[in-house]
Amino acid sequence: MNLPLPKPTSVAETHWRHQLREAYSTAQDLLVALDLADLPTGNKCSPAFPIRVPKSFVARMEKGNPRDPLLRQVLPNPDESLVVDGYLQDPVGDMASKRGRGLLHKYHGRALLITTGACAVHCRYCFRQHFPYATEHTAGLQQREAIDYIAHDQSIQEVILSGGDPLMLPTQRLKELTHALAQIAHIKRLRIHTRLPIVLPGRITPNLLAWLEGLPWPAVMVVHANHGNEFDANVDRALKLLQRAGVRLLNQAVLLAGVNDSVDALSDLMERSFASGATPYYLHRLDKVQGAQRFIVDDLTAIDLVDQLRRRLSGYLVPRLVSEQAGAPYKIPLI
Ligand SMILES: *Cc1c(COP(=O)(O)O)cnc(C)c1O
Ligand code: SF4
Repeated sequence: MNLPLPKPTSVAETHWRHQLREAYSTAQDLLVALDLADLPTGNKCSPAFPIRVPKSFVARMEKGNPRDPLLRQVLPNPDESLVVDGYLQDPVGDMASKRGRGLLHKYHGRALLITTGACAVHCRYCFRQHFPYATEHTAGLQQREAIDYIAHDQSIQEVILSGGDPLMLPTQRLKELTHALAQIAHIKRLRIHTRLPIVLPGRITPNLLAWLEGLPWPAVMVVHANHGNEFDANVDRALKLLQRAGVRLLNQAVLLAGVNDSVDALSDLMERSFASGATPYYLHRLDKVQGAQRFIVDDLTAIDLVDQLRRRLSGYLVPRLVSEQAGAPYKIPLI
């Protein structure tokens, strides 16, 4: 790992913003780019959660394949507007664990900040797709409220930057946030939950790396990839730079029908993720969020898949299959 750490330049900072602006925002444009113009699409997705997918992610999809596992994660479907029994707006009880605007405190020792509602990609299975981001985030004045809460609870040792995607914020904003957190003596670790190093690896800029390197705590980054094809040379490079900056990398995935619900797809994901530098962490059972029913894998199948993974992979490559239950003190292991 002897890549030279690049010098900060503002070119890199503007480049990823440009890539975001160029992201596909209609199913039609996306399908034309993939030579799938004839595919009937669910064009009528909710205006509150429109299609969004950067071109660099689309470049990893297979042209002409309507069942591409990356495409399936981002392509809206008409049944998203159906109301199905058991599929809720807030399936994991986020609103009940709210402790001030933009702050969730569900588990002992860890507080989670909803830093922004923005994401570089709109994953159709996302459990926070109905989250009221407009009022619930830690921007501006609301940041003070969240910081005060953490400062007053000595049991909080770890702060998790989440969202949306925290790396959608300008690096300067992230610096201001961690500068404020650095005044709180009982914080021991910083964790960042982000899909950007996978979806838009250009976000890992020299400025961002300099910020991470300068943090006063050990930093853990939990990235999010669901399929081996999400890794390419740019992702490998971004994850390598993060490791060089001292960041420990984990990957969390969601078990998704038609994307990764086979032992071959899962073992390839775990091997590919580890090869890129991110150790498998969680494999989440789908949170039953309204609109996501086409992705469900039943629990017995999920348990069997992980059992087969254990027979095939080194122990540290096997993720923990968990489900999140509203009110539970931790994410519940299924096997
Ligand atoms: C998932 C989650 C965490 C982190 O849980 P770990 O098991 O430590 O990864 C913390 N807070 C909230 C609100 C969460 O949803
Ligand atoms: S990147 Fe994460 S938070 Fe954003 S839409 Fe996808 S799953 Fe949801």
